[in-house]
Amino acid sequence: AAVPEMRRNMQYTESERLFEASKKCIPGGVNSPVRAYQAVHRTPVFVERASGSHIYDVDGNAYIDYVCSWGPCILGHAYLRVIKAVQAACENGLTYGAPTGKELKLAELIRSCIPSMEVSRLVSSGTEATMSAIRVARGFTGRDKVVKFRGCYHGHSDGLLVKAGSGALTQSVPDSKGVPADYTKNTLVAEYNQPDSVQKLFETQGKEIAAIIVEPVAANMGVVLPEPGFLEFLRKITEDYGALLIFDEVITGFRLGIGGAQGYFHVTPDLTTLGKIIGGGMPVGAYGGRKEIMDMVAPVGPVYQAGTLSGNPIATTAGIETLTILKETPEIYTQIEASARTLAEGMRGHFGESVCVNQIGSLMSIFFTAQKVKDYETATSSDISRYADYFNYMLDHQIYLAPSQFEAMFVSAAHTAEDIAQTCEVLRGYGR
Ligand code: PLP
Repeated sequence: AAVPEMRRNMQYTESERLFEASKKCIPGGVNSPVRAYQAVHRTPVFVERASGSHIYDVDGNAYIDYVCSWGPCILGHAYLRVIKAVQAACENGLTYGAPTGKELKLAELIRSCIPSMEVSRLVSSGTEATMSAIRVARGFTGRDKVVKFRGCYHGHSDGLLVKAGSGALTQSVPDSKGVPADYTKNTLVAEYNQPDSVQKLFETQGKEIAAIIVEPVAANMGVVLPEPGFLEFLRKITEDYGALLIFDEVITGFRLGIGGAQGYFHVTPDLTTLGKIIGGGMPVGAYGGRKEIMDMVAPVGPVYQAGTLSGNPIATTAGIETLTILKETPEIYTQIEASARTLAEGMRGHFGESVCVNQIGSLMSIFFTAQKVKDYETATSSDISRYADYFNYMLDHQIYLAPSQFEAMFVSAAHTAEDIAQTCEVLRGYGR
């Protein structure tokens, strides 16, 4: 699609009208908290449509989109081959609640790219995937405790909504009301990239710990890369204590490469959770691992997990098509990484030492801090009012970023060299 002319003096009147009306019948006017733009103090733009690297709002403004629906749209929006496959699938009915060959195909595709997911189960969101993986880990080990990291987000299930990142951190509610203390007493919190904090928990409670769940690249306190040896350390300590290692690859899966973070870092977890990209824009999640562990899941084993729309044929079609394209076109990963690197360099060049830009593959974040961001402490040292100011400037110049410091910036295969150059040009107009 041709990139529309940049508009000056943008208007947001229709978004404002819709937001006011939405607030009367939807909590905060939105169906997921960060969309409300509270952290950046403005009315969210209401989207009408999207195509390639661009989204278009209800006031006729066009933006280069670096949110990409928070990760799924790795090919860009409305990718024709995916859309056509979905359209064709719709003709055959939207859901059956019975097994299909498509589910087998998606499971085989996932396994061919991520071999540790020998056996996997499809669900409808990342939240369901992590919740279920933890249930399986507990069932398999006969233990109750789970270690998570401060600032990592694994969806909004009760037991994992503890010191959580993403919207919970943005809204300053990393420990949600409405979650009984009894539900979280088995959630132990360690510090990302700080092996000592994990070691201490295992030394005192190692025999009760079922699993460590970790985002191998933390991307819900902004993007924070694992320090060399950190993931290997998690692998070793879980093995030593008979606990399972769960990689939550809802963001990194099929994003860091066809083999996800485990392929990138060559560290193999016992269980993996996926979401976002594997649904190609439709609601899909998955969890899986070694057969002996996944044999715990009903109807084979005693761990119950189910879903009316699990393996939905339309969502599965979008996932198969997306993963097939990624598998057939490995150069996509080289391209999106190069685009992200150019952007990161542009940001570093513009802001100099006053910011920290973390980038890996097509994931990146800018932190308004002079510190090297490598854990929760340094991530939250970022000046969020500076982020808000930067976000607002960029949005008013048609660059659509996450409205929160504690989210990732996503680059897709649809972002052209012109999009990247345009973004860098807008950035150069922003005061430091
Ligand atoms: N895990 C990670 C790493 C995520 O980033 C998210 C969502 O952003 C989830 C789990 C939850 O996924 P969903 O929003 O599909 O429930």
